[in-house]
Amino acid sequence: MAKVSFIGLGIMGSGMVANLVKAGHELTVWNRSHSKYSEIEKVGAKTVSDPNQLLPGADFLMYCLADDSAVEAIFLDGPALASKVETGTIVIDLSTIDPETSAAERKVYEDRGISFLDAPVFGTKGEARDGGLWIVIGGPKEVFEKSLPVLEPISETLHYMGEGGNGTKMKLVGNLLVASQIVSIGEALSLAKKAGLNLNSVLEVAAVADFKTPIYAGVGAGVIKGDYEVNFPLKLMLKDARLIQAFANRLDTPASIAITTEELAKAGVDAGMGELNASAIVKVISNRAGVNLSE
Ligand code: NAP
Repeated sequence: MAKVSFIGLGIMGSGMVANLVKAGHELTVWNRSHSKYSEIEKVGAKTVSDPNQLLPGADFLMYCLADDSAVEAIFLDGPALASKVETGTIVIDLSTIDPETSAAERKVYEDRGISFLDAPVFGTKGEARDGGLWIVIGGPKEVFEKSLPVLEPISETLHYMGEGGNGTKMKLVGNLLVASQIVSIGEALSLAKKAGLNLNSVLEVAAVADFKTPIYAGVGAGVIKGDYEVNFPLKLMLKDARLIQAFANRLDTPASIAITTEELAKAGVDAGMGELNASAIVKVISNRAGVNLSE
């Protein structure tokens, strides 16, 4: 059993905390807003009112925060926890952030002799709830191995990607594939609808043919029911499209999918859909096509 401090009770963090408690770890958590405290206390985690209270005696400090500015606000600025974490604590950042922000936090930790892993996750609300995430990890191999007791209870598979930063880079590479599939199923269903095809039949073909993917099946089934209940918020998809573009630009590789995704996601966020599921991109596309996919 480990003493685990955790920051971030969002869609993903809440599920992770519950699974870490279930695995027998002693969890102490802090979240910016305290509205989720009573729910997380019910699953057996202890809550604190000040993030500094998380630091003493923790074996692991884990966090899953919305974006770069959230990580910076807590770890590099404000309470600046990165410069206060105790020696001996292993720090694991599960957020999806820019590899450059990840490198900045890693430097603060490494300069102080603190072990750090960047460990962003694939999967969404259901996988977080069920302990079935697919996690990509960068950092020293021995630190990854020591962290297995807290990574295994939240994951289906763990992928050690090599040196620090490689987890964050892999996450953006993977999210480029996610973005391309959400945009392509949106364009495909809009085209099919306008062409007079039955969308259930289209999805039946898409579920078996050599272009099938779980994203086509899941997003497709949701949008034809008009279900945009949030698993992965559109506003975070917009953030990721921007991160992928910046990453690709720095490495001088084409970013056409990220550019298209950003434009569509921004249109959705501007239209008030930021808190809906990222599949609302399909709604933006179908609105432009002048079709209603859920009729
Ligand atoms: P979420 O539900 O929006 O939760 C975001 C968390 O970050 C909340 O705890 C929020 O606190 C906190 N936060 C945001 N801004 C903050 C700030 N300035 N200072 C302090 N705390 C701040 O997001 P999520 O879906 O759990 O995603 C978390 C991370 O996992 C993101 O990097 C996301 O890209 C990544 N991810 C998400 C999914 C998914 O399907 N949802 C899948 C894979 C990866 P409050 O509660 O106070 O707002």
